[in-house]
Formats: sequence, structure tokens, C-alpha cells
Amino acid sequence: MNISVVIPLLNEAESLPELFAWIERVMSEKQYSYEIIAVDDGSTDNSWQVIKSAAAANPAIRGIQFQRNYGKSAALHVGFEAAQGDVVITMDADLQDSPDEIPELYRMITEENYQLVSGWKKKRYDPITKTIPTKLFNAATRYVSGIHNLHDFNCGLKAYQRKVVKSIEVYGEMHRYIPVIAKWAGFTRITEKAVQHRERKYGTTKFGLERFINGFLDLMSITFMSKYGKRPMHLFGTLGVLSFFAGFLILFYLTITKTIFGQVGIASRPVFYLGILTIIVGVQLFVAGFLGELIARNGSEKNRYSISDTIH
Ligand code: UDP
Ligand code: MG
Repeated sequence: MNISVVIPLLNEAESLPELFAWIERVMSEKQYSYEIIAVDDGSTDNSWQVIKSAAAANPAIRGIQFQRNYGKSAALHVGFEAAQGDVVITMDADLQDSPDEIPELYRMITEENYQLVSGWKKKRYDPITKTIPTKLFNAATRYVSGIHNLHDFNCGLKAYQRKVVKSIEVYGEMHRYIPVIAKWAGFTRITEKAVQHRERKYGTTKFGLERFINGFLDLMSITFMSKYGKRPMHLFGTLGVLSFFAGFLILFYLTITKTIFGQVGIASRPVFYLGILTIIVGVQLFVAGFLGELIARNGSEKNRYSISDTIH
């Protein structure tokens, strides 16, 4: 199969018929073999009925329904697990992403051999409260991840080689960082394609302003997890030892001034408290690292590595 289109959706019943019809049109024009995997992330409108009747009319349409709303990342995750196409394309259900981009995305993956092509909403049709924080968010993500050639990390329209989606894990709200996760999983052939973006035609956005706070916290945890998730002691232990050592030097200095130079009243000097504080903080950090290490060693994922190829 050439293409799997994975569509996470929450209460998008009005958009779906138009979206399915449009995708079908593009696919049959280009004669791709394809499937559409619509993942209903706990919709409370009649999205699921719409998917069911579309699937009855077109066997290429598949549906997965969640019992409740788990979030876009969870929906993408199960869609990725189900996908069978050589190229997997994700797309929002709200008609903001255009299915007309599919052939070019497919070509970039299959012919130019990219592992991930991320859409770039070069000209956006979103309110300014969203576009400005998004610029900041993207700059921070570029800086932290070292992926300097992407303008737009969180675009819903993306294309992947199948093996990429099979070996990354998207959970929580990590769908904002899929290129980062992919890079850290060893898929470095990442690029972007400027795509058309359109105004939301039906319904409203499913994410509020909390997306930016959550987004930055997730960026911190994803950085931590990828760098130190399997070796927490290296971070906490280093900081702890440094802090402890600084405190030790301070108190050592104070001890010398008291015992050798006979200075009185060292306990009333501010630096005395600083010395005690850094020693305590140092021990705490060290213990945190040690506990983290114990947890990491007991975790079921400690020896999960993604293998790109094997012989026999
Ligand atoms: N979505 C989802 N689960 C959620 C929230 C959103 O599956 O909990 C889907 C939504 O239906 C849409 C896509 O994710 O297909 C992007 O959401 P939205 O268009 O609301 O985000 P925005 O374009 O405002 O960033
Ligand atoms: Mg949208």
C-alpha cells in the first residue's frame, strides 16, 4: 500500500464528509493505493456515525473510536500502530490542511528519500494570539533540538516513512514535538514543505491558550528524557557533587579563619548560611539522582532500543 492517511479528530462531524471526499479525489487522480485511518478521540457529536457511513461507502476508510477523549497524541499513536502504508501522512480533520499537498509529500518521502517531511504553514490563517507565541515556541524548539531547518514543528500535516512512525512513541501532548522525537530516535533526514493553510471552516479549535504553557513544560521534559532519561545520576549527581563541593569549600574557608586566624562570629556571616545551604542542596540532588537511577533501572523500557536493520 502506498499511503496511510491518519486523521485524529475530536468533534469534527461537519468537516469529515468534505475531507474524505477530497482525499479520495486526490488518491484516485494519482492512482495511489491508500487507506484513511480516522481516529475518533472521544467525540461527543456524531463524528463516529459519519465515519461509519463513509467507511461503508469506501472500504479504504477505517475507523478507530476511543471510549473517551485521550488527546491528539494518543489518537496519533494508535493511528500509527494501525498504519500499513509505505508513507504515513497525518492531517487535521478540520480542513485547515489541504489534501492537495499529499502527492508532493509522497514524492519527497519516496523519491528524495526523506524520513519526515513537516508541513510549514507559511501563511497562517489563525488569530494573532496564536501566531506570536507559536513563533517563540518554534524558536525555542529549534534551539533545544538542534533541528534548524524547520519553521513549524506543530503542523498537523506531516509525512513519514512507515518505519519512523513504527519506532517513535507519542504520548501526553508530545505531538508538538514529533520531529524532535524522530530526530532523537535516529531519523535525521527531516525537512519541511511550505503548505497551504486555511481558516477553520466548521467548529472551533480544540486547544486553548494553556497549549503554550504545556508546550514549554513538555519541551523541558522531552529534553531531559532524551538526554538523561536513562542515566539520571549523570545530571543530578554532577549538580549535587558541584553544590556539595562549593559548600564544603565555603565552610572549610570559614573553619580556617576561625581556627587559624582566630576570627570570632563566623555563624553571623551570610556566607556561612550559603555554605550550609549548598551542602544540603547538594546532598538532596545527589539522592534525587540516585533514586532516579533506581527507578530507571527497574523501568520496563530500560533496554528498549530501536533497531534499524538486522540480518537473518
Ligand atoms: N484533536 C484531537 N483530540 C483532541 C484535540 C484535538 O483529536 O483532544 C484533533 C482535532 O479534531 C483536529 C486536530 O486534532 O483534527 C487539530 O486540532 P485543532 O484544529 O483544534 O487545533 P489547532 O488547529 O487550533 O491547532
Ligand atoms: Mg485546526
